[in-house]
This record gives sequence, structure tokens and C-alpha cells, in this order.
Amino acid sequence: MPPTFTTIAIDGGAATGKSSTARGLAARLRYLHVDTGSHYRALTLLCLRHKVAACDANAIRALLSHNPLGTEVDLAACDAKITVDGSVPADADLRSDAVNANVSQYAAQPAVREALKEYQRGQKNVAIAKGFGGLVMEGRDIGSVIFPDAELKIFLEADEATRAARRAKDGQTDAILERDRLDSTRKTAPLTCPEGAIRVNNSQMSLPEVIEHIAAMLS
Ligand code: C5P
Repeated sequence: MPPTFTTIAIDGGAATGKSSTARGLAARLRYLHVDTGSHYRALTLLCLRHKVAACDANAIRALLSHNPLGTEVDLAACDAKITVDGSVPADADLRSDAVNANVSQYAAQPAVREALKEYQRGQKNVAIAKGFGGLVMEGRDIGSVIFPDAELKIFLEADEATRAARRAKDGQTDAILERDRLDSTRKTAPLTCPEGAIRVNNSQMSLPEVIEHIAAMLS
């Protein structure tokens, strides 16, 4: 590993601004951005399409063994996308109402988390191989489970009204509080503020302000 490689873990609840912040921060630093929520969404989509239930661990493992996971990197955008059986799922499909309504149930399934844990840890090697000086990974368990030794851990927060307004602006139907409830009460890798993470409440901050605030923590 290059001596200066830096891993930044950004965790937080639904609609707290993780993706915009992580993407903007990665572009600002020229680090690789990885959105792990899209990984859970991709596997949820795969299972829904094959009518595999969230409680059926054996069927999930069998499905995954026939649909290998890969990564497509957009060097200009500093962004990594998951591929399932060779193709990147469409963003509209990943953010459909059906996926929004079911993703937390699939994300609570240890068979899903086991497969993604290895895949997500491997993203560091992808970043190094592509010449990036660091990784900005966002999700629910990045600082607690995937990269507990990350150089910088951020826990993003925003008040309820701000979060609801963000989702409404995106035109999405999304029960964000219900997803947070399921995500923080599950047995495996629950949503939590990781040990050593710095809490950032962005309700009263613009996106560029949040990005600069976090970037300044590295210096
Ligand atoms: O971040 P996003 O809202 O796209 O995440 C979708 C869902 O994926 C979350 O509600 C959660 O159930 C799951 N997730 C997770 N662990 C992560 C990232 C996302 O369980 N690291």
C-alpha cells in the first residue's frame, strides 16, 4: 500500500447527505468514492427480480454464487460502481420504490452482509490499483465494521425536517425513519456512530461548507 493512502469512512442515517458529501469530498481530494448503500440496493434488486426472500439465506448465497460482483471505475468522476454479473444496475432501478421499501430487510440478512464485507474491503485495492491516493466510503457500518482503522471517521446527522425535504426534492418515496429504525436495531452491523467518529450535523450548512469542514480535518 502507498505510505500516504488515506481512508475516510462516512456513516449516517438515510437522507443525511452522505452521498453528496462523500462524492464531493472524493472529487475535491481526488480519492475514490464508494457508495455502499448502492451495493445493498443492487443485491436487493437482484433478489427481488429472482423472487428470493430476504429471510432465505441459502437461496441468497446460491443466487450470489451465480451472479459475481465486480467494480467499474469512472476515473474522471472518481467514482466506483458495483457490477452484478458484469453490468452496472440502472440508478432508477436502484432507487425505485420497491428497493426503498425492501433494502433494509435484505441488508439485515447476514448472508448479504458477509458477501458485501469482503467486496467492500476489496475496494481499497481497487483504489490503489487505479492510482487514487485514498478512499471515501459511505454507508452505515464503514467506521465500525468495514474500516474500523480508517484515518478519518465522520458520522453525518441532519434534523428530521431537513432530511424529509431532501427526499421530497429528489422526488422519492422513502420511509427514512423506518429504514433508520430497522438499520439501527438489526443484530448484524447496526447503524451506529462508530468509536472515534466525529459527528457533523449539516442541517444549517451548505454542501460546499460541509465538504470544506471535513477536508480541513485532514490537515
Ligand atoms: O445509503 P442508502 O440509503 O442508499 O442505503 C440503503 C440501505 O442499505 C440502508 O437503509 C441500509 O439498510 C443499507 N446499508 C447498510 N449498510 C451500509 C450501507 C447501506 O446496511 N453500509
